[in-house]
Amino acid sequence: MFEDSLFYQQALQQLETVADRVGVNKGTIDRLKAPKRSIIVTVPVRMDNGDVKVFNGYRVQHSLTAGPGKGGLRYSPNVDLGEVAALAMFMSWKCGLVHLPFGGAKGGINCNPRELSAGEMERVTRRFTQEMLPFIGPNVDVMAPDMGTGEREMAWIYDTYSMHLGASCPQIVTGKSAALYGTLGRREATGRGVVYCIEEAARAIDLKLSKASAIVQGFGNVGSVAAVELAMRGVKIKGVADVSGCYIAEDGVDPMDLLTHMETHKTLEGYPAIAKISKEEFFAIDCDILVPAAMERQITAEMAPNLRCRIIAEGANGPTTNEADAWINENTDIFLIPDILCNAGGVIVSYFEWVQDMQMFFWSAQEVDSRLQQLIRRAFLACHHYARNENVSMREAALILGIGQVAQEKAARGLFP
Ligand code: GLU
Repeated sequence: MFEDSLFYQQALQQLETVADRVGVNKGTIDRLKAPKRSIIVTVPVRMDNGDVKVFNGYRVQHSLTAGPGKGGLRYSPNVDLGEVAALAMFMSWKCGLVHLPFGGAKGGINCNPRELSAGEMERVTRRFTQEMLPFIGPNVDVMAPDMGTGEREMAWIYDTYSMHLGASCPQIVTGKSAALYGTLGRREATGRGVVYCIEEAARAIDLKLSKASAIVQGFGNVGSVAAVELAMRGVKIKGVADVSGCYIAEDGVDPMDLLTHMETHKTLEGYPAIAKISKEEFFAIDCDILVPAAMERQITAEMAPNLRCRIIAEGANGPTTNEADAWINENTDIFLIPDILCNAGGVIVSYFEWVQDMQMFFWSAQEVDSRLQQLIRRAFLACHHYARNENVSMREAALILGIGQVAQEKAARGLFP
């Protein structure tokens, strides 16, 4: 079960650390410690060579108190129930913190998208959606992209669900392309949200972004957009990393050029102006801003003492272990922008997409972006204000406010029957 997972323990421990300060009784906290529903399905798929391969699919709905479950679907070879359950819990706190009318959910399939053909990916996605039919719906649980999935997979989920329903239902999923009644600005939303938070943090510590430098771990949808947005503000990108390895570029590198390189080469490997280094060396690069935007549990207690940055902006979910987090908090004055705040831009714009689909009335890119800024900057300032007033870390502030919102809703609605 999920209790064996180190990542789930990390999420649970975060809840336990702040539980006394959330202001609800123990029974309500206990209701938040385990997911409401955990679904495991097998996903049998005919591979291109004619063989049948069986994948494991997961969907965990941590909370459905505020509205439908909301959260991404992750394709990654090692994904398991514990990882998905931890991520679902983070989604609950994230939606609570930015006050979206959603519960928290997350899904995963233990497949390696790099090894599957487009046809195999489509069959995996459609069969998983079919298996999920009893548990999803525009008012029940709404999936979105996460690691290894994007607009293409969301289109297949939308189509499979709509075929079953007998009517088009774009609001079943967010992160679709704008052409398919998604929203403008969803693809860039998480990375942009990260950078809006960095702007606020830079203001708080009096750092001029036009003179700053950054390193970015992960060059997918979150990391690459964050790097481009930082570079647009004059930040020098001194280090980048992806599945192919970690790289340093002392004189800075243009993230747009890196993206062009990736169009043909798929990874950062082989780009001339960057040199390969170890993960330990990467995290020790002297810079102002570190953006971990790859995956969970990357900044460990061993790594923490080597960090040479002033801001950590957690683009990924759970990139810092609790041990590393405690060490950073006690021994450094690094300004850490915690995941449930820092990467909330994605789910915020998913909310906008869902609202637009429900109404069949679509917004301009400018409207999406200005509303995104309004919500994420407001959440940042609320956390910062709370952290200073109550003398707690930014992570504790975000958790107390996020968990507090979900817990208050649960307490106010009461217990059925
Ligand atoms: N997977 C993203 C996250 O972790 C987005 C979820 C969503 O848009 O529903 O926040």
